Amino acid sequence: MIAGGGIVGAMTAMELVGRGCRVTIVERGRIASQTSGESSWAGGGILFPLLPWMYGDAVNRLTHSGTRFYPAICQRLLEETGVDCELLQSGMLILPAFDREQALDWCQRYDYVAQSASAAAFGVQSPAGDEALWLPGVSQARPPHVMQAMRAWLEQNNVTLLEGTELKPLSGSGSMHEWETVSGEKLRADKFVVTSGAWSFDLLKETASKLKIKPMRGQILLYRPQRNLEHMVYREGFYMIPRKDGLLLAGSTLEDVGFDPRTTETARDELRAKAVAIMPELAELPILKHWSGLRPGTPENLPTIAAHPQIENLYLNTGHFRYGLTMAPGSAKIVAALICGEQPFLDHAPFAFPL
Ligand SMILES: Cc1cc2nc3c(=O)[nH]c(=O)nc-3n(C[C@H](O)[C@H](O)[C@H](O)COP(=O)(O)OP(=O)(O)OC[C@H]3O[C@@H](n4cnc5c(N)ncnc54)[C@H](O)[C@@H]3O)c2cc1C
Repeated sequence: MIAGGGIVGAMTAMELVGRGCRVTIVERGRIASQTSGESSWAGGGILFPLLPWMYGDAVNRLTHSGTRFYPAICQRLLEETGVDCELLQSGMLILPAFDREQALDWCQRYDYVAQSASAAAFGVQSPAGDEALWLPGVSQARPPHVMQAMRAWLEQNNVTLLEGTELKPLSGSGSMHEWETVSGEKLRADKFVVTSGAWSFDLLKETASKLKIKPMRGQILLYRPQRNLEHMVYREGFYMIPRKDGLLLAGSTLEDVGFDPRTTETARDELRAKAVAIMPELAELPILKHWSGLRPGTPENLPTIAAHPQIENLYLNTGHFRYGLTMAPGSAKIVAALICGEQPFLDHAPFAFPL
């Protein structure tokens, strides 16, 4: 039984089905939609950490593995469900200021192609200087499409989707055989996995007091420019993502405001100013949409992917913070391997349960 139907829960289910397990996902809202700040629907879909040289090797290895698994997953989802995840290797242009030496060193170490480039030649303004860095290998997928495809695949593969069902926080220790819902129903299973995103700590605080997961709100704006970008552009914590159908995302904020999923005028003005600094023509354009999501924030962006040491049959796959869409395929493989008694494909020690 999987607690939470975001990208992490959905991909965990897919991996378990592949190992012959019978799976139920329990979801408070509805899978592949957003009702109260769920993160997966809201994400930008960049399959790469923003400035990966700022993160440790464990984050880089997990995101890298996800990036590698996406083409096969998206191809399979397209063939089996007809839903296109819009995987696109659109590359990313990094505008100054950034630490060029550190960036080039990282690219060499991780075997990533990086080229010096002129921002003007890419048709964008760069307020802090023209000398940008072009990473042609960076790709993106479109999160609402990925989630729709996953939902369709899970239904086709007989995963039970218990939607509109909220689980109660866990208490106690020992061996777990059932999990109670807020309406008092007791759901039985052999194994349980917590994939509840920003809400995971609320579910686990009595049984995992050292788990550090808190909501970190992110807001994004949507435009349809006459001349769209052909590549993703990043500048000092802000990014723009062009979609295949001419839409352009501008995001995102990083806000520590608890479980408040509202969008704000302040963030809209801030994001618009940053977008206009790169593409001045956006000043004249309407914002088509403005949304937010609550990321499962964790120190150093490290998720927990592990068995619970005191509760038999309980596993955690949560806390992927800014890169859950990218990390989900690798993370799902690790937790599925642990559940089925296999050796995970990646060293999972950095994602251990916090004691
Ligand atoms: C603005 C923004 C931009 C982002 N951009 C990117 C990006 O470009 N690339 C990238 O890799 N990542 C990105 N992310 C991060 C990514 O979206 C998250 O890391 C990822 O979606 C987390 O997935 P999840 O399944 O753990 O959480 P969620 O998608 O939040 O899913 C958790 C689910 O658990 C359910 N749940 C919670 N409590 C209960 C309960 N008690 N009972 C039943 N169900 C429950 C919730 O309803 C929810 O559906 C972005 C996030 C935001 C907000």
